Amino acid sequence: MTALFDLPPLPQVPVVGSDATYPVRRIFCVGRNYAAHAAEMGVEVDREAPFYFTKTPWAICHSGTSIPYPLETENYHYEMEFVVAIGKPAFRVAQADAMDVVFGYGCGLDMTRRDLQLAARAKQRPWDLGKDVEASAVIAALTPAAEFTIGAQRIALSVNGETKQDATLADLIWSVPELIAHLSRFYHLQPGDLIYTGTPAGVGPVVAGDTIEGTIDGLAPVALSLTEAE
Ligand code: MN
Repeated sequence: MTALFDLPPLPQVPVVGSDATYPVRRIFCVGRNYAAHAAEMGVEVDREAPFYFTKTPWAICHSGTSIPYPLETENYHYEMEFVVAIGKPAFRVAQADAMDVVFGYGCGLDMTRRDLQLAARAKQRPWDLGKDVEASAVIAALTPAAEFTIGAQRIALSVNGETKQDATLADLIWSVPELIAHLSRFYHLQPGDLIYTGTPAGVGPVVAGDTIEGTIDGLAPVALSLTEAE
């Protein structure tokens, strides 16, 4: 048996201080994980359980890239996010053990066709057209877990140098061990699975010509530039 055609290799994310790279298998994204962002979206936070949407691994876009303004949107939004990279298999893992499966952390952008997401939300349809956008899972180099302890680090984003989002990781509603324990009830988590943990308040649009930079104290910053639409 031979394959009819070859697929490109899965995207790989650089690792700070290493020549090794982190291959991406799946991308999970958490919705409404900062109270102030849920409020600005006009929705209530569900305190009973987190919820998720996914992006294909092909949506990975390396930090520092310039991409064309995306297709079929007039309201492309930035969302700065703290990203957790899974490094060991995790299935029905207890919260107390959940941090043991973390490989590391990174700065990411969950870029979103907000007009399409909100239209889908209004019709109670899935969010794929709004969220699983090509090149929309922007990711910076990962920092190994041993070199970063989650606390109240500042998480911030600027567009063309002007601060738009400014919060701390202490504002996360669902903590990293809570998310890993919860997700591992529904999926056999594996190395290569990334979790984008949600965005703080202050989301907004970008246009061609804009440059976005996102930072979390102690991690490599993430950047993205937009050029004219195709
Ligand atoms: Mn998001």
